[in-house]
Amino acid sequence: WGAPYFRINEKGNIAARPHGRGTFSSDEIDVMDVVERAVSEGMSMPLIIRFPEILKHRLSTLHMAFERGIEHTGYQGRFQGVFPVKCNPDRYIVEDIVRHGKQYNFGLEAGSKPELVMAMTNMCHGSADALLICNGYKDAEYVRLALMARQIGLKSIIVLEQEEELDIVIKVSKEMEVFPVIGVRAKLCTKHGGHWGETSGEKGKFGLTTSEIVGVVAKLKRNNMLASLQLLHFHIGSQIPSLALVDEGVSEAAHIFCELELMGANMKNIDIGGGLGVDYDGSHSSASEMSVGYTLEEYAEHVVNAIKEACSLKNVKNPTISCESGRGLVSHQSILVFDVLSARMKTCDSEEDIGVSLDFEGWPRELAATHEQFTELLKRGDYVGALEHARTLKAEGVRLFKIGQFSLERRALTEKLFDMVSNLAVQREEEKFDRYPTKKLSLVDSGVVDQTATYHINLSIFKSMLDSWAIGQLFPILPMHRLDEEPTVRAVLSDLTCDSDGKIARFIGHNDDVEPSNFLRVHGLISKKPYYLGVFLGGAYQEVMGSMHNLFGGPNMVQVTFREGGFEITHAIPTQNIEDALRTMQHEPHQMVKDLRNRVEDSLRQGRFKNRFEADVAGDYLASSFKSSTYLASDYRGGCA
Ligand code: PLP
Repeated sequence: WGAPYFRINEKGNIAARPHGRGTFSSDEIDVMDVVERAVSEGMSMPLIIRFPEILKHRLSTLHMAFERGIEHTGYQGRFQGVFPVKCNPDRYIVEDIVRHGKQYNFGLEAGSKPELVMAMTNMCHGSADALLICNGYKDAEYVRLALMARQIGLKSIIVLEQEEELDIVIKVSKEMEVFPVIGVRAKLCTKHGGHWGETSGEKGKFGLTTSEIVGVVAKLKRNNMLASLQLLHFHIGSQIPSLALVDEGVSEAAHIFCELELMGANMKNIDIGGGLGVDYDGSHSSASEMSVGYTLEEYAEHVVNAIKEACSLKNVKNPTISCESGRGLVSHQSILVFDVLSARMKTCDSEEDIGVSLDFEGWPRELAATHEQFTELLKRGDYVGALEHARTLKAEGVRLFKIGQFSLERRALTEKLFDMVSNLAVQREEEKFDRYPTKKLSLVDSGVVDQTATYHINLSIFKSMLDSWAIGQLFPILPMHRLDEEPTVRAVLSDLTCDSDGKIARFIGHNDDVEPSNFLRVHGLISKKPYYLGVFLGGAYQEVMGSMHNLFGGPNMVQVTFREGGFEITHAIPTQNIEDALRTMQHEPHQMVKDLRNRVEDSLRQGRFKNRFEADVAGDYLASSFKSSTYLASDYRGGCA
């Protein structure tokens, strides 16, 4: 999944290839160097590292793929992409796309009034030929803004998402005396069945049915405005899994396009929406929900071909093709780096290690027989056999404890015995595994023994990886360093929020397995040393959709540009601090600091502080806490080798 932008370098660190190529380490950026530089300059975790050159490379690769498709198929139209800003409306991303996209007449897509205003402003610096696609539900103000965009020389196209919007466009354009360029969003029958296909098919949320489209044509004709209908838009859904679905959807839409031209509309553009998939798990297979079974080049060629075929059949001029690829464009350009604060793992390896007493004397009679068999099996080294008895002892221990017939210490002892025997049983299996490398660890893999450690991470999943929680999306996650060492620990990740959903317990499968794994392979923590993990391919949607759960703010951000033999941090943008986070919920930090200082003064008068100095220190500490990060300070106290 990392190719061509990420690999593991000779130091065992993640290296980024911002230009998507290169055979020498001098063509790369060692990402750990960036992390260390950022930390030395006062940036704390979590940290988004952005590579604008990767974004630029994605943009030109997308454009070139369509150009090549046009050339191969002898298509008589051109390609003009637009970026759907909802995917990542960050200022620097949008500015970079407009700047680098100028040579390709690359435009923007907006789906709301704030996005439209932002897109209009940015497009003032872009190509005069770039398209401004106005999607989303609209009111009169939205339509007025889109028409004003035309007045100031931007190529805005108002795409009707609902039939009623046409009345608003007709009314407002007549009032303003501005000729509108209109598109219709078609509700296709082609249905994408995956996670991201809910917007597709006849019951999809958006777009017009064929009868509604025919109604739009009739109404425009009655108003002498049919010449303004120039674009057909559709969006099958995000992460389209296969070329077969691309062919089916594009072909259905291309025929609608041709029919509209034949009905007298002035059709010039076909906008295929988003949907270009990302190979999150590296399987390059349409059988996996986290991947797709095609390359960018194949996708582009199939799109061009399907449109060309429909146009040839209906003898219609080849239109300009636009796509609104979001995920495919911006997923790769950043890495979200965070540190592990501590780990909870079962570390008892042997009987002596935990000092478990096998002396069960004086224990309730119910447990005597089980204990006897357990000790016998243990003495014979049959740990797998002993495991079942240990489980019974543990369960019985809980039952007796609940009715007051078992002490807390005894209950703890049965728990420890179970953990000890689990470890010994797994060790025994691992010894076999070494001898028969193809064999799986059945005790662990079948869930009989849970050997998974919990790594506590300095991150809010709700802020930075919302789709992981909301729709179970998997992202590649791996250590940023020590990748020349075997990762011997199986872990799940638990975030900082006080929410049991704030964890990651499903990961991209190992090796060539498209099935997700229920653990991540990581290294043991080393006391006092940071351990960094990174989430890759999360540059689309995650930054903008995240919520303020537990008032955790956004991560710090650095933008990194390649320099011969190294890199430069071109922007360093600090995270939302506590004060900023509070403001998002209408609190007034300024007043809050005053209230706390007043309270300190009262407490001084009441003798709760020894002297004025102590009260001032407390007051200053409280005031300065508003300026600190919402995340935890990383002191790596919990190292666990
Ligand atoms: N265009 C429209 C209308 C969309 O609804 C979406 C996403 O849902 C996109 C473009 C971007 O899709 P993707 O990120 O899959 O390319």
